[in-house]
Amino acid sequence: MTEAEWLTCTDPKPMLEFLRGKVSGRKLRLFAAACCRRLLVFPYDISILFESFNLRSVFRDIEVCADRGERSSHHADEVKEAYIAAKKAASRAASRRYDVKMSFDWNACALLLKGLLRIVADDNVVMMAIKVSELAACARGNCILSWELTRLETEGDGDGEDIDQEFADRVKLEGEDCEKAAQCRILHDLFGPLPFRPMTTDPVSLAWNGEVVDKAKTSYYLLGLPDNIVADGDAIYHECPAVKPLHDLRNALQAAGYTPADECLRHFDKLKGHIRGCWAVDLILGKE
Ligand SMILES: [Zn+2]
Repeated sequence: MTEAEWLTCTDPKPMLEFLRGKVSGRKLRLFAAACCRRLLVFPYDISILFESFNLRSVFRDIEVCADRGERSSHHADEVKEAYIAAKKAASRAASRRYDVKMSFDWNACALLLKGLLRIVADDNVVMMAIKVSELAACARGNCILSWELTRLETEGDGDGEDIDQEFADRVKLEGEDCEKAAQCRILHDLFGPLPFRPMTTDPVSLAWNGEVVDKAKTSYYLLGLPDNIVADGDAIYHECPAVKPLHDLRNALQAAGYTPADECLRHFDKLKGHIRGCWAVDLILGKE
């Protein structure tokens, strides 16, 4: 894979295969956790399951372990139990005609939990990352189908019960493709140009302007916190809590003598789409 192909790729699988042997297990675990984190917005019934298994705190711990490059295998039993419960709920919902929409949400939840199980159970990080990305994409396809059926029902174009299989397959596939493209953007943020070219920071200018490292530390910390879920009209989106510190970090880099020609500075021109493990923040902090 060339760098140009990497930058335009919309399927994470060949990208992850390309990374084999080139990058740290920490980054691949952070990728897998980020794929799952994108799916943590559920209808009420599923939120209740999450609470009853304390899954938000489990997920938080999985992310913290991933950041240390660890597998968090101590969560395997509780994630497995929750996965079985979600699978049962999905088949119960599928057997009730009026509840078929909800079965897709439960399927999405079960696929997400299966992904979490891979994170806590698999030692082969590249294979784990590929599987989690596939499961997360498939989960998104199910969520999109449920939303689409709700929309059609609301607009009077369907009753949410009689589902045309061809339509359902197409909607799911479109949802999966969108999610895969989003996962590629996560890989771009985690690795930047590093799989192709070594990047370094200038230790003299960073030492001269200690603000750069301070701002990078604040950004790193905030990128590890859950996103703020913001509702704007009908749309619900994630807002990264590190937007302001990343803006400050960019300015501090500029004050330290970095120019817009520098890739590290240019990476922060865009204030959205950064996650814990962002290559430019990691580079400043000396993390791999
Ligand atoms: Zn970034």
